[in-house]
Amino acid sequence: MSQPQVLPDTPDASSYRDVWTFTEYVEGELFQTSFEALAAAKKIASLTGMKVGTVVIGYKIPDEVPQALIRRGADYVVIVDDVELERYNPLTYASALVQVAQERKPWAFVFVADDIGRDVAPRVAYRLKTGLATDCIDYEMGEIYQGVVGQTFKNVLAQVRPDFASRIAKIFTPRHRPQISSMRPGYFKPLPEDPSRKGEIFRVKWSAKEEELNKFSVLEVKRLPEEEGVELLSADFVVGLGLGIVRRTRGDPDPKYVLDMARKINELLAQRLKVKTAIGASRALVWAEVRELKDFITPGRQIGQTGKTISPKVYVAVGISGAIQHKVGIMRSRKIVAINTDPEAPIKDMASYMINEDLYEALPKLYESLKRRLE
Ligand SMILES: Cc1cc2nc3c(=O)[nH]c(=O)nc-3n(C[C@H](O)[C@H](O)[C@H](O)COP(=O)(O)OP(=O)(O)OC[C@H]3O[C@@H](n4cnc5c(N)ncnc54)[C@H](O)[C@@H]3O)c2cc1C
Repeated sequence: MSQPQVLPDTPDASSYRDVWTFTEYVEGELFQTSFEALAAAKKIASLTGMKVGTVVIGYKIPDEVPQALIRRGADYVVIVDDVELERYNPLTYASALVQVAQERKPWAFVFVADDIGRDVAPRVAYRLKTGLATDCIDYEMGEIYQGVVGQTFKNVLAQVRPDFASRIAKIFTPRHRPQISSMRPGYFKPLPEDPSRKGEIFRVKWSAKEEELNKFSVLEVKRLPEEEGVELLSADFVVGLGLGIVRRTRGDPDPKYVLDMARKINELLAQRLKVKTAIGASRALVWAEVRELKDFITPGRQIGQTGKTISPKVYVAVGISGAIQHKVGIMRSRKIVAINTDPEAPIKDMASYMINEDLYEALPKLYESLKRRLE
């Protein structure tokens, strides 16, 4: 059997300092998720006693941008401002990020796991010859034994992410720097604005290489229409529908009836309690493309690891088993009510209340009892 290929260690790993984020400033808009990344970096910095830096890339970046980042937790801001960086281009952005990382050597580097972060972070990690832990939901400090070099590494970053199966994985990058990760939006609350915070601003010169500019050019930027299910992100009360809605203990299942019941419950709460409500779904239901639900249960409504992360006051999981990939999207819910015929369904670990009953019977009862109470 051939020996595993071992990437050489970062030669001067001990000279790497500070926790960085990549701030997305695109078409004049500072993405709010960049403040979440700063909150994640702040957590890592508090565990390590390091500073928080952030890199902003663009053209004619107004002074307001670094100031806003400092107010939200950055100790310093590294700005790369160049006409070639006016529009997002993975090659030029990766080139600028690699250059500043090579010059200034951050210990950890956090990207947001969104369209841009998912595109640029692997390119940066590859060029810096280090690892990338994607879709992280938390960070800790830890130690790891690495068999391939027969050594235990202490005080390395544990980059916590959902596993592909049913667990949480901790990813370590003990022998390489920076320790690069992407952070799932929705897991770190932006720090409140602190107008008294002071920080440094560094402006860095960068010039694109000919081959980076010639590979492709951006001709036009079009904004997509607002995504479906966006109301899930700010709703106080969310009903999540799962594949259980196509099964029924007695009689034929009627998924449209279940959707209508969920809507009735939401309308009742919205009217009586003046709360924001929304309906989401598990991936299994989205993928099932149930004919009667096809215009409403779309990928934009998917909750979970590859869907939206929600943080309602109450989440009602209807016919959802509670796979880890679903759980990571609902773990910030304050209370979880699960309706499931199986008392051992994994959702029970998270549920504050478990209703072990056929959802076709439980939902109308839930509606009636809410109506009585609210009247
Ligand atoms: C890489 C990867 C990413 C993924 N991302 C996501 C994601 O973002 N979001 C997500 O949701 N999933 C995701 N998944 C899929 C996930 O693993 C599960 O397959 C999915 O969440 C299961 O959906 P479900 O609970 O609706 O269906 P099932 O697992 O089939 O569960 C249905 C549940 O309904 C109950 N039930 C059946 N009939 C009734 C009834 N009449 N009344 C009451 N209860 C009933 C059953 O007991 C069961 O617990 C991902 C998987 C992978 C591998």
